[in-house]
Amino acid sequence: MNRPTRHVLPALFAALFASALCAAQAVRYDGHRVVRVEVRDAADAALMETISPDMWSHHAGPGPVDYRVSPEGLAALDASGLAYVTLIPDVQARIDQEREAVALAGERGFGFFDAYRTYAEFDAWANALAAAHPGLVSRFDAGLSLQGRSIFGVRLRPAGAPADRPSVLFNGCQHAREWISPMTVAFIADSFASGYGVDPRITAILDELDVDFIPIVNPDGYVHSWTSERLWRKNRRPNPGGSFGVDINRNWGYEWGGPGSSGTPSNDTYRGPAPFSEPETQVLSQYIASQTGLRAHIDFHSYSQLVLAPWGWTTAPAPDAPALNGLADAMADAIFGVHQEVYVAGPISTTPYLAVLTP
Ligand SMILES: [Zn+2]
Repeated sequence: MNRPTRHVLPALFAALFASALCAAQAVRYDGHRVVRVEVRDAADAALMETISPDMWSHHAGPGPVDYRVSPEGLAALDASGLAYVTLIPDVQARIDQEREAVALAGERGFGFFDAYRTYAEFDAWANALAAAHPGLVSRFDAGLSLQGRSIFGVRLRPAGAPADRPSVLFNGCQHAREWISPMTVAFIADSFASGYGVDPRITAILDELDVDFIPIVNPDGYVHSWTSERLWRKNRRPNPGGSFGVDINRNWGYEWGGPGSSGTPSNDTYRGPAPFSEPETQVLSQYIASQTGLRAHIDFHSYSQLVLAPWGWTTAPAPDAPALNGLADAMADAIFGVHQEVYVAGPISTTPYLAVLTP
């Protein structure tokens, strides 16, 4: 056995792979921090809008709000007198560490869920899951992104199940940079596929329901976040004025255009020129509309530890608020029961902003 060849070559390839990725990573965040600012009122929030283009919390306050700030932004923040603490002292260092972890996983042949995965790797994963579980898992392609990439998924449905069963949908990655969301959706699908016939709870669910998983709703943005701009959020729509991207999660038709979205194309929460103007929202909404048995849908985001239920556009309770909030509470309790991690549950619009760092 030629041990040096076996060990050195993969390391070399990994190093080349890593340097190729770094070379393509056009946008850097050297000296950028993520800070938590104590926003007291609307004037503070407006000031922070001029200091940072990238609020990581969804709610602009009042209360603690997280922002990415450039070195210039940090100087302006120091001059402003606003109170803040630093959460991430060096954003680029964190991104470099992540790149190294991805390269190391490739070098050592780690399992699929031990590192973040590219769009191509998720695509191959969907095919592999279907091949590994014939008669249970099937791949589907719901439609195409703006740049023509498949918005694919897998359906878990035991052979011979009745045609008109109820169904549930899990999706991730409306926002490109939220890399943990497709990993989570794929992990649930993988766990369900391997658990059918083994885990009585999973078996009972799949004997009752079709369960669909779409890991990456925004493939163009996701690919861009790997090749060019790690913190890219939107799709890759060319906008008037030269900017790119519509926020897919602000492009849905119901109550489109309200607060929490922007009409400015360069803004990270740009809602687009019209409801459902983007292929990605068209594909997912049409898929949902076509599933006549659909009973529940979870849309995964990061960062934060929240279980959020409708409504988002108004503080009025949703028609079935007690059931939704009860379910959200039960999910948060279940997560705590397994991991002792605290997730805060409640409606999007009224869950205390102290914890809301939203979708
Ligand atoms: Zn999001």
